[in-house]
This record gives sequence, C-alpha cells and structure tokens, in this order.
Amino acid sequence: MIEKTLVILKPCTVQRALIGEILQRFERKGLRLAGMKMMQLTDEVLSEHYAHLSEKPFFQRVKDSMMTSPVVVCCLEGVDAIQAVRALAGPTNGRLAAPGTIRGDYSMSFQENIVHTSDSPETAALELSRFFAPEEIFHYEQATFPYLYACDEY
Ligand code: ADP
Repeated sequence: MIEKTLVILKPCTVQRALIGEILQRFERKGLRLAGMKMMQLTDEVLSEHYAHLSEKPFFQRVKDSMMTSPVVVCCLEGVDAIQAVRALAGPTNGRLAAPGTIRGDYSMSFQENIVHTSDSPETAALELSRFFAPEEIFHYEQATFPYLYACDEY
C-alpha cells in the first residue's frame, strides 16, 4: 500500500551539514518527497511528539537536544514507506546500528541519531498532521514510478 511517513532531520544533522546527504539516501531509495520545510521545534510540540518517553529519565534532555537548532521535517511517500524508511534509518542506538543504515553510517549515539521516522500508520498520520498543514503536502506524479515498482506492488 502507498503510505506517507514523517522524517525529521534532527539538529545534529543540520549542525553536521548532513541534510543533503541524508535526503539523498531517501531519494536514491525511490521515495517521493511530498513535503519539506525547516522549522524550530518547541517544548510544547516535543512533549506531544515524545509523549511515549515522558517517564524516561532522558525525556527533557531529548527534547532540549531537538531544540538546539531548527530541524528539517519531510513527508516521504512510497509503497510500505513507513517500514522501508525505518529500515533505512536503522535501530535507535547509532553505535549498534548496522553499517549501511543511516544511523549505522552517521551516528555514534543513542540520542544524536540523525533522523526521526514514524513507526506505524497511526503514528505517521498523527505526526504528519502535527508538523504539516494539508496544503504543505504536495500530490504530483513521480515520473519514475513505473520503474520503481511492478504494477502489482501498489
Ligand atoms: P526512535 O527514534 O528510534 O523511534 P524512540 O521513539 O524510542 O526511538 O525514542 C525517541 C528518541 O529519543 C530517539 O530517537 C533518541 O533520540 C532518544 N532516545 C531514545 N532512547 C534513548 C536512550 N536510552 N538514551 C538517549 N536517548 C534516547
């Protein structure tokens, strides 16, 4: 099924000037960029976004880290995009992430791990509506589509 998912290029990625390189990973894979913008996150929106971590000792530290610079939020689309993007990102702890994954190739940290990616269809829908207005998501034909997928794959 064709899905949309949220990717956030975290402040560590912006500071390390890796925005282009990381975006290129997703583009090369064949995901369609349906929306993208730079924004400064706030404690309020991060408290919602990371609500599942609110009992963790590192909750405030993670939120603070996400506010140290603007981030780049992206909406990516493709067949089974949520799972495909999670697989490209790799597991949370960059030190344990396999080489070849984004975190495995670019991160030495549990926290400073380059990207956020939505983890389920429900979270993807909720997160996209949290960070994008409907008119900021663009529907256009991806010219390469018939070369990315067989006709029975979507
Ligand atoms: P993911 O981003 O892989 O979906 P989580 O939703 O569990 O992972 O955590 C959100 C973010 O909080 C992580 O990407 C990471 O930046 C930070 N985080 C999670 N667990 C830890 C930890 N044990 N120590 C430091 N930071 C953590």
